[in-house]
Amino acid sequence: MPTTAKTKDTKFIFVTGGVVSSLGKGLAAASLGTLLEKRGHKVILQKFDPYLNVDPGTMSPFQHGEVYVLDDGAETDLDLGHYERFTGGVLSQLNNLTSGQVYENVIKKERKGDYLGKTVQVIPHVTNEIKGRIYEVAEKVEADVIITEIGGTVGDIEGLPFLEALRQFAQEVGPGNALFIHVTLVPYIGAAGELKTKPTQQSIAKLREIGIQPHVVLCRSELPIEEEVREKISMFCNVPAEAVVECRDVPHSIYELPLYLHEEKLDDIVCDRLGLPQTEPDLEGWKNFVWRVIDPSHEVRIGVVGKYIELQDAYKSIYEALTHAGAANDCRVIVERIDAEDLEDDAVEDKLDSIDGLLIPGGFGDRGIEGKVTAAEYARTHGIPYFGICLGMQVATIEFARNVAKLPGANSTEFDPNSAHPVICLLEEQKSVTQKGASMRLGTWVCDLKPGTRSYELYKSATINERHRHRFEFNGDYRERLESAGLTIAGTSPDGTLVEIVELPDHPYYVAAQFHPEFLSKPNAPHPLFTGFVAAALARNISIAEHSQEEVSKT
Ligand code: GLN
Repeated sequence: MPTTAKTKDTKFIFVTGGVVSSLGKGLAAASLGTLLEKRGHKVILQKFDPYLNVDPGTMSPFQHGEVYVLDDGAETDLDLGHYERFTGGVLSQLNNLTSGQVYENVIKKERKGDYLGKTVQVIPHVTNEIKGRIYEVAEKVEADVIITEIGGTVGDIEGLPFLEALRQFAQEVGPGNALFIHVTLVPYIGAAGELKTKPTQQSIAKLREIGIQPHVVLCRSELPIEEEVREKISMFCNVPAEAVVECRDVPHSIYELPLYLHEEKLDDIVCDRLGLPQTEPDLEGWKNFVWRVIDPSHEVRIGVVGKYIELQDAYKSIYEALTHAGAANDCRVIVERIDAEDLEDDAVEDKLDSIDGLLIPGGFGDRGIEGKVTAAEYARTHGIPYFGICLGMQVATIEFARNVAKLPGANSTEFDPNSAHPVICLLEEQKSVTQKGASMRLGTWVCDLKPGTRSYELYKSATINERHRHRFEFNGDYRERLESAGLTIAGTSPDGTLVEIVELPDHPYYVAAQFHPEFLSKPNAPHPLFTGFVAAALARNISIAEHSQEEVSKT
């Protein structure tokens, strides 16, 4: 495989994981991205996932957590969300490669006759396909450094072709151009009263068996990695002691991780090994953001009513966007996770009374829908700031149609195909779609905003670009009836046919969008709809506090 002029200037970092999953490899990779970017390098992060799905779009959130959508409509791993939030890099389909895609491409080529006469094998055909992707990214994307995280754990059978491809790739680009970081666990065993290095030794031995010698070992540990432990890992694993980097849990926020890893000199070591200049990263803006996250003046409680509420990862980007908007409003956002099904048995007041704002996120299927409709009604009638996202917008429309426009039985045809008033229905272009994978309305679409609306005021723009992932839409046949009952259509597709945002005037904040604003929020560039929502929740919280203060002073 040829190294081109372009790849010669690019540095490649590969992040692997050992011992157990959930070590926070994605966050570690993203944080290194932040540090390198703040040192002035153009960084692109990407993820290679060894599973056989072509993309995670068809996986349940229970299996996989959130599906993160990119501008070009790619449905990707949630780590790409961290990458876009921690760096300025805008990612594309090219930046999330799965075994499913690799084998799909290899088999297509075989059928076309590209390998005519040959036996098609994992080495070299599958590994060439993987290497080819890295070269393609280096060719097409403007980047000084490409950081590639490999999903899974070293030792997994399905990860082997990826590691073999990386071994070959590092060979091809030559020493000093490729660097391997192995993230590992150094557990504390209470009975022995010490940190144990054996799992790390064994996992690195596995890597070396494949022919990869990591340059840096990032040690996840609950306790400090003392000199003795560092020396031991260094000796057994063939890594200089200064490249054994401690990585403990950061105390308050994931956004502290770049600052922590800088203290641990991770970026210095990486730049040294890759021959990049030793400069100080400019972390002022980042520190300022972290400080606002950790020590704000106020607090608000936001109820998130969903179906996958017990899963930490199912609404990841939403929780992050709330954190960004909290920092912008000088307040801590406390998320109350409310299971939509729990609202179906009358407990609404108990569950929603103490919250300052209600957010209904995206979702699929009818489980919990009636609970969400009840929650939307409660927010509308009690002046609680409401923010609907995708399904949350459809729920708001259904609730408004039933209870304000008096259209009994109003529903989405997703939940009731025979609804008397299908105010949400299948998108026209979806009617002929039979295949499930990558077939929704996906990616970035332009939306025109109506002057004078809350959304217009918050975006400060007449035209916006937002990312989508849905099959159903606001039914245009009901537009006039709902508008005349008081619903504001604040955003539409440029041709005016698709309703993208609905709002209620005369409400502290009632904004619901068909798209997913959470995918575009960044630490120091919070999304305007989230900022406006949290501001409204804070205003409610402050006014309730002032009111009860007045009551107390009257007595
Ligand atoms: N299930 C709804 C649809 O397909 C909403 C999708 C979503 O919330 N992402 O339109």
